[in-house]
Amino acid sequence: MDFSQLAETMLALESTKSRNEMVEVMAWLFKQQPPDEARFSVYLLQGAVAPPHAGIEVGLGEKLVEQAISKAFGYSQKEVQAQYLKSGDLGKVAEKMCSAKRQASLFSEKLTIKKVFQTFYRIATLGGHGSQEAKIGLLAELLNNASPLEAKYIARFPIGRLRLGVGDPTVLDALSFMHKGDKSDREALESAYNKCSDLGLVAESYIRDPESIMKFSMQPLMPVRPALAERLPSPEEIAKRLGKCLVEAKYDGFRLQCHKKGDKVEIFSRRMERMTNMLPEVVSAIRQLKCKDMIFEGEALAYNEQTGEFYPFQQTIQRKRKHGVDEKAAEMPLRLFAFDLLYVDGKDISQEPLHARRKMLEGLIKGSQLIAPSESYITSSADEIEAHFQDFVSRGLEGLMAKDLSAPYTAGARKFAWVKLKRSYRGELSDTVDIAIIGYYAGKGARAQLKFGGVLGAVYDPHTDTFQTIAKVGSGFTEEQMKALEEKLSVIRVKKPNARVRSLMEPTFWVEPKYVITVNADEITRSPQHTCGRDSGDVGYALRFPRMVGDVRTDKRPEDATTVDEIIGMYRSQRRVERNVQEEQ
Ligand code: AMP
Repeated sequence: MDFSQLAETMLALESTKSRNEMVEVMAWLFKQQPPDEARFSVYLLQGAVAPPHAGIEVGLGEKLVEQAISKAFGYSQKEVQAQYLKSGDLGKVAEKMCSAKRQASLFSEKLTIKKVFQTFYRIATLGGHGSQEAKIGLLAELLNNASPLEAKYIARFPIGRLRLGVGDPTVLDALSFMHKGDKSDREALESAYNKCSDLGLVAESYIRDPESIMKFSMQPLMPVRPALAERLPSPEEIAKRLGKCLVEAKYDGFRLQCHKKGDKVEIFSRRMERMTNMLPEVVSAIRQLKCKDMIFEGEALAYNEQTGEFYPFQQTIQRKRKHGVDEKAAEMPLRLFAFDLLYVDGKDISQEPLHARRKMLEGLIKGSQLIAPSESYITSSADEIEAHFQDFVSRGLEGLMAKDLSAPYTAGARKFAWVKLKRSYRGELSDTVDIAIIGYYAGKGARAQLKFGGVLGAVYDPHTDTFQTIAKVGSGFTEEQMKALEEKLSVIRVKKPNARVRSLMEPTFWVEPKYVITVNADEITRSPQHTCGRDSGDVGYALRFPRMVGDVRTDKRPEDATTVDEIIGMYRSQRRVERNVQEEQ
C-alpha cells in the first residue's frame, strides 16, 4: 500500500478527538492491508519501528531532521531553522517546503508503507563512524520522494512528535472493529498482547487468522505485561476480600522480569525496557538456575554488604545506567526477591494458582546467593496481617502485598489477585499517586529564575485512552529537581495539548505526556476544575495539597500513571475509613 494512505489516516486521526472515529479510521486502514504491512502500520502509527522491549529507537535530534529537510528541498539550514522557530513544528515546515521545492527531485519514486518503515528501521539501527551522515541522507531521500502531506509526518516521526493520540487500547479496539464491526474481540486481543507486549505481532497474527490470538502463549525472551496491584485501605478489608492469602513484604526497589532460554538471559523493567546489560551479576545468577527456560519476576534492591541493610530506592535506581556498569555493580550489589513464576521448561504456568507457582519458584531458586524468595506468610487473620505490616514498616520496607493464593497471574491487569497496603502518615492518602505531566507553569516570584512554577498532572483512563487532569503540583521539588524538570519539559513543549489530554486548565506550556512523577496528597476531593472521572454533574476528582515525592519515575510510561478507576476507588475507601473513624468516635 502507498504511504500516502497511511499519511491520510494520520491526518484523519490528528483531526479528531472522537475516539470512535479514530477506531473506525484505523479499522478501515487495517482492512485494506496484508498482515505484515498492518504490523508496520501499527508501529509507525505509534511513532516506533519495533515494540519498546526491542530497544530500537529512531530518535534523531531536531538538528539532523532540519539538515535532512534542507538537503531534500533546497533551502538553507538557516531558513529551515527560522521557519521552525516560527511554527514550532518541523512537520509543518517540511510540508510547506515540500510544496515549494527549490530543487527538482532527480529520481522520484512513490513511497510505500514498507519502504518508509524499512528506511526508518535502517536509520534506527545504523551505527558507527559516518552513521550520522548516512541517516540524514536516508531521511532526505524519503522526504525527497514524499508529497507535502507525507513529508509532514515523515519529519515529525524521527523526533517523536507524531501527535496522533493513538494509545494501545485504541489500536486493540480498531483491530476488533475491523473484523467484528464492534469491540467484542478487544478482551481476547488484549490478553494476547499482555502475553507478548508486541502490538505489531498481535495485529499481524489477528489479521492473518483471528482465531490465532486465542492460542497465544508466553515465550521466554518476550516480555509479559506485568500484573498490577489493587489497593484496599486496611488489613480488615484485605482479610474480608481475600480470605486465606499470601502476605509478602513490599520492597521498594525495581521490578525485574527475568527470562532464561538455555544460556540466553534477558531482563526487562516494569515498563518492559531491556535492562540486561545493566545487571551483569543478576544475569549470571539467573544463568546458573537449574532449568532449561523460565520467566520469573522479582523486586531488586541494592544493599550494603557490610551491614546487610537495604538502600532506599533513590540509591538502588543508580544501578539503572548505561556506563560504569561494573563499577556500580561492585559498589552497590543487588539482591533479587523473587515473587512469581510464569513459565518453566516449555510450559506457560501462568494460569496455575499462585500457591503452585510459588512452590515451583522456591524449588528453582534454592541455593542461589543473589536470588531469594520474597519474605512471605500465609494467613487469613486481619490481626496477623496488621502485625506483619507493622513489622515490615518498622524494618524500613514500603508495606505489604497480599495475594490471592488461588489466582492465576493476571498479566497487564489489576484484578484483586494482588492487593497492596502501603505505609502512610497522618493526613496523607493511603497510597501515593503517579501522575503524567501534561503541562507546566512558568515560575513567578522566587521561582522566576528557575523558569518553573510547577506542573499540571493527569491520571490515565485506559477505557477511553485519555489523560484527565487531577492536580497542579507546585511543591515537594528541590531546586535541582526543578532545574532538571524544566530542562526535560522545555524540549517536549507543544502548542496544543496532546489529542489524548482532557483539561479545563491552561498551563503556561503544554507538553507531550512523557514523564511520570509520584505525588502524595492530604486527600482526594471532588472538584469542578479537573476532568478526572468527571461525571454528568460536571464534577471531577482532585488531589488536595499535592506534593511531589521522590524523583521522575523513569520506570513508568505515561500510560502507567495511576488510573481514573483507581482514584475513584481510593476516594471511596477514604470515605469508608472516614465513616469508620466517625463511628468509632
Ligand atoms: P505500586 O508500584 O505501588 O503499584 O506497587 C506495585 C509494585 O510493588 C510492583 O510493580 C513491584 O515493583 C513492587 N513490589 C515490591 N514487593 C513486591 C512483592 N512482594 N510482590 C509484588 N510486587 C512487589
